[in-house]
Amino acid sequence: MPKDVLYDVFDPTFFQERGKHLISELTTYIRETTSDSTAKVLDFQDPETELAYWKDFLDNGDSSDFFKEVLQHSTHIHNPKYIAHQVGITAPITALTSTISALLNNGTAIYEMGMASNAMERIVTEKLCTKIGYTSNATGFLTSGGTLANLTALLTARKIKIAHDVWNEGHKDPLGIMVCEEAHYCVDRAARIMGLGSKGILKVPAAANYGMDIKKMETVYQEAQAKGIQVFAIVGSAPSTATGAHDDLKAIASFAKKHKLWFHVDAAHGGAALFSKTYASLLDGIDQADSVVIDGHKMMFMPTITTALLYRDKAHAESTFSLNAEYLLRTTNEDEWFNSGKRTFECTKTMMGLHWYILFKMYGEAVFDAYVTRQYNLARAFAAVLKQDSYFELATEPMTNILCFRYIDKTIPEREWDKLNQKIRESLLNEGTYYIVQTKLREKHYLRTTLMNPFTTIAHLKELLLKIKTLTLKFNQ
Ligand SMILES: *Cc1c(COP(=O)(O)O)cnc(C)c1O
Repeated sequence: MPKDVLYDVFDPTFFQERGKHLISELTTYIRETTSDSTAKVLDFQDPETELAYWKDFLDNGDSSDFFKEVLQHSTHIHNPKYIAHQVGITAPITALTSTISALLNNGTAIYEMGMASNAMERIVTEKLCTKIGYTSNATGFLTSGGTLANLTALLTARKIKIAHDVWNEGHKDPLGIMVCEEAHYCVDRAARIMGLGSKGILKVPAAANYGMDIKKMETVYQEAQAKGIQVFAIVGSAPSTATGAHDDLKAIASFAKKHKLWFHVDAAHGGAALFSKTYASLLDGIDQADSVVIDGHKMMFMPTITTALLYRDKAHAESTFSLNAEYLLRTTNEDEWFNSGKRTFECTKTMMGLHWYILFKMYGEAVFDAYVTRQYNLARAFAAVLKQDSYFELATEPMTNILCFRYIDKTIPEREWDKLNQKIRESLLNEGTYYIVQTKLREKHYLRTTLMNPFTTIAHLKELLLKIKTLTLKFNQ
């Protein structure tokens, strides 16, 4: 190739030099974020300032500063004071598997365009199926996110449970999916994408602990039937997003059985607890699910996006996107697990099997037990601290590592507490030492933390409470 711009793009020496430089920057990042207690989680800039910065950099910046500047302008999830969204704290080894995936770019939809990653995908999904308690008739694949995986599972559900051939002929009768009102919004979105409309999303009210009120399932079902809506699936959250409440999967399983519904479990966040000796029981009943979603990029140290969709019956996984019913006729040992594109929504996807495989290989299942157990324990310890402090109120006892609380000031009317908590969250964001989020629960404004980070200790959390108190003193000045 002549030494022109195309040559520059693929110059191996340049790659090596920049690669070394980047690894060195990232190594410093890991070392500093996980050990330096004064480091900021983020250096917050308002969106317009940030936009202007990168516009200017495009024209005037030095590309050799690019990585450093990206680091400076990003949120440092490895900092122990990052206790906000449910984003996985990536194991550094998966940054390296991401690099291989990016460079090799094997799309994995067909076998020979991803031999290694397809084989690894088979191995890790088999492990997950075993952990769920499925038999050898189960199967699974990796896909791009919990949102897409939930949609895919519900498409399978419709294919299997509805006699009318919706895939080829479109909808005939109104169809519906039952889910707790507290479930992640993507289930609602999936129903709408599937053309069920808002009437097709049948919300079961939550009980006091924010989990599905199982006593109300039958009423919701009967009301839908009376309106001529054919319910074909019910989704259990393991757990739901805002408060981390686990639905009673056993109760939902028997309800699904009684009404011949597809039982789907959205375990995007909490599926990792299958590996925790202490907390696996939160998922009791999951083995009866027809399909299960687990995000690797939540509680399993993996980079976005790495999601597993597991099916109890391998014929079901084959059926989702097939035009006819031939999948039902095939014998199970003929299944083409190695051509994953037949079963996934995506055509091309990243080599996500690499991340899961290398974590199992290097650290074993024990690492997920240690991690989940530690984080869920930490949330309980944090709850105990909050309960002893009259300035704070818990939304509900944490079942996982998600915990919502609010600051209460008894010297002002309760209606002003929402504003106060909003102000606390905004001040924390601007200040940047801690990063937490917020949520509205039953019309009340709460501060929301997800204790994702294995470096976060109870001392950090106590310090956060102190910081909040100091901030509120300043508000009053
Ligand atoms: C995060 C989450 C999702 C969405 O998954 P993505 O991977 O972000 O698309 C869905 N359901 C639950 C319960 C979640 O926690």
